[in-house]
Amino acid sequence: AFNANVAAAQDALNAFIVATPEAAIEAAKATDAKRAAGEDLGRMGGVPIGMKDLFATFDVQTTAASHILEGFKPQYESTVSQNLWNAGAGMLGKLNLDQFAMGSSNETSHFGNVVSPWRKQGSNAPLAPGGSSGGSSAAVAARLAPAATGTDTGGSIRQPAAFTGITGIKPTYGRCSRWGVVAFASSLDQAGPMARDTRDCAIMLGAMAGFDPKDATSLDMPVPDWEALLSSDLSGKTVGIPREYRMDGMDAEIVALWDQGVAWLKDAGAKVVDISLPHTKYALPTYYIIAPAEASSNLARYDGVRYGLRDLPEGANLQDMYAATRAAGFGDEVKRRILIGTYVLSAGFYDAYYTQAQKVRTLISQDFAKAFEQCDVILAPTTPTPAFALGENVDDPLSMYLNDVFSVPASLAGLPAMSVPAGLSKDGLPLGLQIIGKAFDEEGVLNAGLALE
Ligand code: GLN
Repeated sequence: AFNANVAAAQDALNAFIVATPEAAIEAAKATDAKRAAGEDLGRMGGVPIGMKDLFATFDVQTTAASHILEGFKPQYESTVSQNLWNAGAGMLGKLNLDQFAMGSSNETSHFGNVVSPWRKQGSNAPLAPGGSSGGSSAAVAARLAPAATGTDTGGSIRQPAAFTGITGIKPTYGRCSRWGVVAFASSLDQAGPMARDTRDCAIMLGAMAGFDPKDATSLDMPVPDWEALLSSDLSGKTVGIPREYRMDGMDAEIVALWDQGVAWLKDAGAKVVDISLPHTKYALPTYYIIAPAEASSNLARYDGVRYGLRDLPEGANLQDMYAATRAAGFGDEVKRRILIGTYVLSAGFYDAYYTQAQKVRTLISQDFAKAFEQCDVILAPTTPTPAFALGENVDDPLSMYLNDVFSVPASLAGLPAMSVPAGLSKDGLPLGLQIIGKAFDEEGVLNAGLALE
């Protein structure tokens, strides 16, 4: 049934880059066989999922939605996808995304934008599904898949989840292995589940997470059984409300949503306190220095020799081949990030930009550490607005970046953070609330998420 939904919705939503219906059927059959033999079905036995096309999948084209990787079929499997297959899940296909996960609307994909299944009341204008995990969010929201993988560098799980009325959690940095995940900004990249609700996220995160010696920043810690630990009783817990997130000119409906969230968490037994995260206003500029810096370094590997595309003009030497391949292979946003990244890392500007950003990143982490002396989790909106129309922000990168204002601080600090659908805008579009937790406390985050459902 899911395979049929994927095929039927492809023209309208463009959520998948490649569909793999046979793989999903194979997992279902394997689960049937296990059931018949009385064997354990695994945490996700037979569940068909969408795989963001940033995860390397054995012999299945893996592109990061970039022309430069078109036709690349990895001969290895990412740890996270392998963990999911080991848990019994099956792959419906590879999901569209912003190119190299750079974007907030899925409009930077080489394979065309994804369209959100949602519409504003009284309008048929196509809306952005969020990004960069826009294929994942659209697929889950449109019921093409019960769940999908996402990755989050500065909000790419949480923002698309908020835009499409689904649930997504970015765990603590290091929980999910980055091995086999196409790198964007290695000190920030983290995989996580996107699904219909908190329980499904808890189940899927349990299958994805775990120590991996192949990732030098992988957390060597036991993976709790988050599903078994779920409880919406928040008595004894304290929720912090960061005053710096109450920005000037914030939409009244976002303020109302946030207040509603506070009331729900109080109903669940939590105490609510005001907290301060004084360096919040520096988070966006800091992120948009560090992420491009790391990206410019990570993307140096796409040289036309090792992967995908090669553009070899007549009579070209090696340098010409690099230049032609990269000029043809990378999209505009990716080139913009590489230029910003090499600029902030260049000898004359390194201290003024990169070193400074690293210092501010530490201050932002310290803000959170201090705030968590007073509270267990933090509640904030996920995004400053509901989903915008496709095309609305494409010519204005700065306004696109501003969309990430509430999601990048937790990324810079490596903290677990989740978006749960919490209401509708006046135009009938989904709005998300965000819960940020202490490092390693996915349990606290999931439980607060459950209380908001
Ligand atoms: N929108 C942010 C960016 O473009 C975040 C992307 C992400 O988390 N992958 O960098």
